[in-house]
Amino acid sequence: MKKILAVGAHFDDVELAAAGTLNYLSKNGAKVFKLTLTDNVTKSKNLKLNVKFNSSKKSSQKACKILGVNEIQNKMIKKCTFLKYDTVLMQYLEKIIYDNKIDTVFTHYNEDANKDHVACHEIVTTAARHCQNIITFKSNFYITNKNFSPNFFVDISKNIENKIKSLNCYHQEHNRNNSLFESTIERNRVWGMSNHVKYAEAFLPIKLLQKG
Ligand SMILES: [Zn+2]
Repeated sequence: MKKILAVGAHFDDVELAAAGTLNYLSKNGAKVFKLTLTDNVTKSKNLKLNVKFNSSKKSSQKACKILGVNEIQNKMIKKCTFLKYDTVLMQYLEKIIYDNKIDTVFTHYNEDANKDHVACHEIVTTAARHCQNIITFKSNFYITNKNFSPNFFVDISKNIENKIKSLNCYHQEHNRNNSLFESTIERNRVWGMSNHVKYAEAFLPIKLLQKG
């Protein structure tokens, strides 16, 4: 894993699911990129949400700096909640993957109540079909009848402070019910306990290549 691309549907997805892992990989010499597919714009009275594009973008820039991640500016950004599989967008990603010689891609798991996440999975896994490693993550806690059952864990005990700092770059409206960030870190602690380390992030790979 030397050249890595992490793709999320929304600006905070990658940090929620993989900030510690990306920080670890970056600190150990990998070149790590982040790309976001939608503008994040969400307005909901019921959910007390008013998420804006510009503030999300600024938060993401700050978070990437903390994590040692290079953010790619998406020239084909889509409207939040309207992300669909799109051949032109897939080919745009394919070009980013080839141009940057990406060997490893992180993106959403294919089963999710958030349909932007599902579309993101389809677009990214198609574009990355020639990559050596394709690894999925879950950035939310929605229950579906095909739940996320991870089998690949990364010890992020040394990166947990930077993960917390990166999440804190996002405005309060990203921290759903005032508890999304905190419960994510708690989940990292539980996954860490299962692996006899302090904190871990959890993934479900589609494919992994061990180089001989
Ligand atoms: Zn999301």
